[in-house]
Amino acid sequence: MQAKPSSKSVNPGSAEDASGLRMTRQRQGVYRVLLAERDHPTANDVFMRVKDKLPHISLATVYNCLEVLVEHRLVRQVNFEREPSRYCPNLEEHGHFHDQHTGVIHDVKFKPGVQLGDVLDLPSGAVIEDVEINLRGQLSLA
Ligand SMILES: [Zn+2]
Repeated sequence: MQAKPSSKSVNPGSAEDASGLRMTRQRQGVYRVLLAERDHPTANDVFMRVKDKLPHISLATVYNCLEVLVEHRLVRQVNFEREPSRYCPNLEEHGHFHDQHTGVIHDVKFKPGVQLGDVLDLPSGAVIEDVEINLRGQLSLA
């Protein structure tokens, strides 16, 4: 499944994004890697991929870039228990399904028109500002 490009994503070649983040060469490189293959890579995966373009970049710098991109809400950090964080450039509201058999993490979108309040018994007056839905399981082979 290929995620649709987010309306909020920015041109990684531009000097600055809408949030005012200064896109340094390293940040651009890291962001490009995330946009190129939307398979929820770990920081280490990103490091291995970005080294083709930026051979002198360090893992610490990659972590730094990822942190800044997450802070500026260009990228989402996805955490599954006891596993290294994954990174996702899909900014549409969505959850993640971790296939424990293959290790693949799938984006899971809401069905059209469905609100969280339709399926969850939320406290009255709750205003949801951020959604983090992580599901674990496997795809049946049938
Ligand atoms: Zn995702």
